[in-house]
Amino acid sequence: MSDEPILVARSSMPPLEEYVREISPLWESHWLTNMGEKHHELENQLKHYLDVENIALFVNGHNALECVIEAMGLHGKVITTPYTFASTTHAIVRKGLTPVFADIRFDNYTLDPERIEEIIDEDTCAIMPVHVYGGLCDVDAIRDIAQHHGLKVIYDAAHAFGVKLGETSAAAFGDASMFSFHATKVFHTIEGGAVCFRDPALRKLLDDWKNFGITGPEDVEYVGGNAKMNEFCAAMGICNLRHLDGEIARRKLVCERYWERLEGYRGIKLTKPAQNVISNYAYMPVVFEDCFGATRDDVFEALKQNNVFARKYFYPLTTDFACYRGQFTCNTPIAEFVSSHVLTLPLFADLPVAEVDRICDIVLGCARK
Ligand SMILES: *Cc1c(COP(=O)(O)O)cnc(C)c1O
Repeated sequence: MSDEPILVARSSMPPLEEYVREISPLWESHWLTNMGEKHHELENQLKHYLDVENIALFVNGHNALECVIEAMGLHGKVITTPYTFASTTHAIVRKGLTPVFADIRFDNYTLDPERIEEIIDEDTCAIMPVHVYGGLCDVDAIRDIAQHHGLKVIYDAAHAFGVKLGETSAAAFGDASMFSFHATKVFHTIEGGAVCFRDPALRKLLDDWKNFGITGPEDVEYVGGNAKMNEFCAAMGICNLRHLDGEIARRKLVCERYWERLEGYRGIKLTKPAQNVISNYAYMPVVFEDCFGATRDDVFEALKQNNVFARKYFYPLTTDFACYRGQFTCNTPIAEFVSSHVLTLPLFADLPVAEVDRICDIVLGCARK
């Protein structure tokens, strides 16, 4: 076994020659960004892969999220989850909105629909749930609540690329869904992201906004930003998309080995795809409950001693970040519990079974100490 450290994630790479072939036309065209050939090609391929009518590509997922909030013209309060990456809460706050936090479900760590209605008031404009780890939110219940109260729904679907509920793509839910194509995600463009959206009228706003609000050679209609995906990133996406189904199949095998090895131990809580959810096997979360006999931090340290780097993800809750501490009143005990007991274990397509077994031996060894 090699002495190379095992990190929690490892970016998938297409064969080098394939990428070189993909980018070589750029040496002829000299068109490197500003919605070139590769950008269009990837956009069309993603429409097909995600089974959506409307998609806009971005320089990263976070800018996509900020941009769609702005394009929808939202004002007031947004109901969301603290059990997420910094981006979700930051996007709400940076766009001048107020996040209001509801707790998560204990089965799949997504926003609990039963805790949403009690915090809706006349200032609430939207719900921003997060699909977590390759599982899906309770999209039906969230849709019903949103319709009943006239709220927009924007999904942070950064973890849910390629995930389906039965036959339905994760990209189809809500008014919009943001995907991240960051290097650590299941599908990546090095850095990148996209928004899929229901209302075609948003297209022009999103497209203009990501290019400074420029609407014509001499016209600038909006105070936009700069959030365009460049041609090299789009080319990486085109290559990675060709291999994605195979990658996901191999991630599934890694997950299945983890489940086989870790299932049934006292104090170990695993999360498997729910009935009817086709997962992308994006993450391998394990919650170490108090009866396990070792804390999450003990397991984290033991792995680190063995050159294995798991991640406390999501920890801390966004409401516990230094920049937000004390600013929000929230009653989210389940999110607090999960955040302080969870570890995501290394997971990538070419993680050898022998390494999964070694990681599981270290994890299980912690309980016996
Ligand atoms: C990765 C991620 C983002 C941000 O995406 P970027 O492309 O890195 O900007 C947002 N939300 C969640 C839940 C993520 O995991």
